Amino acid sequence: MIQKPKGTYDVYGKNGKTLLETENIIKSLMDKYNYEYVRTPLFESSDLFHRGVGETTDIVSKETYDFLDRGNRSMTLRPEGTAGIVRSFIENKMYSSVLQPVKTWYYGPMYRYERPQSGRFREFYQFGVEVFGTESPIMDAEVISIAVNFYKLLGLKEIKVNINSLGDTESRNNYREALKNYFKPHLELLCDDCKKRFEKNPLRIIDCKYDSNLDIIKNAPKIIDYLNEESKNHFLQVQEYLDTLEIDYIINPNVVRGLDYYTHTVFEVEANVKGFGSQNVLCGGGRYDSLVETIGGPKTPGVGFAMGMERLLSALELENIDLVETDNLDIYIIPIDDKLKYSVYLTNLLRINGFNVDMDYLNRKLISNFKQADRMDAKFVIIIGEEENNSKIVTIKNNKTKEEYKISEEEIIDFFDKFIKE
Ligand code: ATP
Ligand code: MG
Repeated sequence: MIQKPKGTYDVYGKNGKTLLETENIIKSLMDKYNYEYVRTPLFESSDLFHRGVGETTDIVSKETYDFLDRGNRSMTLRPEGTAGIVRSFIENKMYSSVLQPVKTWYYGPMYRYERPQSGRFREFYQFGVEVFGTESPIMDAEVISIAVNFYKLLGLKEIKVNINSLGDTESRNNYREALKNYFKPHLELLCDDCKKRFEKNPLRIIDCKYDSNLDIIKNAPKIIDYLNEESKNHFLQVQEYLDTLEIDYIINPNVVRGLDYYTHTVFEVEANVKGFGSQNVLCGGGRYDSLVETIGGPKTPGVGFAMGMERLLSALELENIDLVETDNLDIYIIPIDDKLKYSVYLTNLLRINGFNVDMDYLNRKLISNFKQADRMDAKFVIIIGEEENNSKIVTIKNNKTKEEYKISEEEIIDFFDKFIKE
């Protein structure tokens, strides 16, 4: 028996419905904010992620799925969405669009070679937004509010928004020096990964999952004390707009995010749901004012987030939130004996006229067909027997009230229009 690859999963049954419902909610939410859908390839040249996400990040140094294609080009399955969207923004010259800022969203699978565990897969789905063309702190606040309002819309109550600022390049360079001076005499206390991070990217030590409980990390200098006036001001304005948007947040100096490209605002949304486990970050994002330039486009500020769908769905389950409507089926048709042709005809007629219809394909007994209709939560049942087949006048039973109606084929669409579509 061939099994699915490690770290992947199948979606079926009720989970399929929940997932599709969540996707529908995302689509209509993005219409409300006037964001445009963008889809980019599942694989890109490896260079894009090395340059965009950063060589020293966990994602690029340990987690990518790389392969050589048959033309010997080095390709990578996308580990995240931002680099591809930025590549597309540049390649399709969206920077010269008359509609500025360019507000985009994406949804799709991402691939990371991680150690599979609860909330951590090798193929997982992300919904994300990316906005290009404005440094305005309004946009940082808007992007955070999209994530929060989405969770609220779904009914998740126990969420916590952590925000921080990494400042501009000058602020970050000052902080980097401060961190180096601070950690230098204590290097032997840190894990092997952090020893490497110390040289290449000491900020990432703050983000280490392994060392996060060490006093030496808890007491490390905080970026907030190294922000220059401009960066401080930007961060303050983000907070003011979050207040305007009525978003609760906590300023958390330990949120530095795992990716290289962030500047100014960074944020994470956590699920505080009981029993969630340690992978409780639902969503992360921030501002990236130099990424477009790094990938080869004109200097363009950007801000966005990415959220994991699997962790969201577990949070919904733990909070007993059910998004799926059960009475989706309008009509269930029951053929008696061999009256299959007219049943098939009627099923099709009703379906192409806009109703959700199913029929018995298995020649069940009447009683088990009624059970089936109940299981499917059908609103109406139609029985097709000898008489109905000949007269084309059918008996329709309201499966909730048990009322019965005799309706001719000519009137049947009007009948259901009245009862179902209204
Ligand atoms: P973590 O710290 O949990 O590894 P990350 O910093 O690698 O997260 P991001 O790259 O910011 O995560 O991705 C944003 C969101 O995508 C995460 O908050 C999480 O919800 C989800 N996510 C990331 N990696 C995985 C994975 N391997 N499996 C499932 N969801 C994931
Ligand atoms: Mg990770």
